[in-house]
Amino acid sequence: MLKKLCMIPLLAIACLLPLVSVQAAANTEITSVRVATRNDANTPFVRTVLDVSRKVTPRLYIDKSGRYVTVTLPNTKIDKNVQKQYDANSNVVSRIWLTQRSSGTDLNIKVPRQVTAQDVKVFTLPGDKKANRSDRVVVDVNDKSGKVKQWKHWGNESIGIHSSQNTKGTKTGGSSVTVPSYGGSASYSLTKGLKGKTICIDPGHGGSDTGALGAFSQEKNITLAISKKVQTLLQQAGANVIMTRTTDVDVYAPNDGAVEELQARCNIANAAKADAFVCIHIDSYSSADAGGVTAYYNSKTSHDAGLAKYIHNQNMKATNFQDRGVRTANFYVLLHTNMPATLLELGFISNPGEEKALNSEAQQQNFAESIVKGLADYFDNNGI
Ligand SMILES: [Zn+2]
Repeated sequence: MLKKLCMIPLLAIACLLPLVSVQAAANTEITSVRVATRNDANTPFVRTVLDVSRKVTPRLYIDKSGRYVTVTLPNTKIDKNVQKQYDANSNVVSRIWLTQRSSGTDLNIKVPRQVTAQDVKVFTLPGDKKANRSDRVVVDVNDKSGKVKQWKHWGNESIGIHSSQNTKGTKTGGSSVTVPSYGGSASYSLTKGLKGKTICIDPGHGGSDTGALGAFSQEKNITLAISKKVQTLLQQAGANVIMTRTTDVDVYAPNDGAVEELQARCNIANAAKADAFVCIHIDSYSSADAGGVTAYYNSKTSHDAGLAKYIHNQNMKATNFQDRGVRTANFYVLLHTNMPATLLELGFISNPGEEKALNSEAQQQNFAESIVKGLADYFDNNGI
């Protein structure tokens, strides 16, 4: 109750702030705003993307109640064609609106449940003239409704109530948080051979996040077992292998937000300047009949598709599981890695026959060998 009462004077002050002329200071235009709900992380989130005419330095503020998120964009002006109010998934945000101030623009987000700095991610993306993309400011707000969804494999089924207790030290109370920026600097190698290549292997899930559950096994353990076999084989071939985890742990922190967890995995690959990123998952569906192998990619570079294709072709030689093909997806790790990346779904843990095979040393070794062969094919064909 106290918190609610405190909000009233805050709101009153916000209303009294002068909304005066901005021409003097503003030299960067906000040219468009897009709002979308994303289900490609373990926790859905609402992403707001602002196109800006040149690079800006956003700052994030969260008020004491945790219900009002403000991202300030100094020295910016809202283009006259840009709408000021936006609708979004009401589980995640109640309202999104832009406010023009003399010093710049505020992006305001009201959320139905308290958020902390760990639930909100703000970053900038550089423009790309060739791709006709302007500089962007991206604001992601995590879903706090408690309806945790798994990776969006084949449906949107809720897997029940999340017991996450985010107790990590968090700055709120109107403090500001430094906003990281990353540039997608592409420096990956496409020369022939595995020798000397840096390859990041990401075993899906881990620690507090079990991933999908089978009748007798957990996704996180199968992904780790296969990944460690891939690591050994790649090292034998002379590659430098970066593992996002080698034990049963969360990469960021237990019960963390999905965005932090997935970004932590991307950060490892990006910091190592890996030449390729391979994320290993096991699929799941409500029907026990569903089965098969899929490779996902996102064409953020010209070589993501090739990486998925070469590995998938070898994977299909290593198993009698159904071929579900090579598909595109907006999965977080595919988009936030700087190098070509693929996310492999190596069969279904919800399919009794596949679960049994996936827990066998033989099938794990077969997939490990096929992933390494596929990586070798990819580099031997210069990623195309
Ligand atoms: Zn998974």
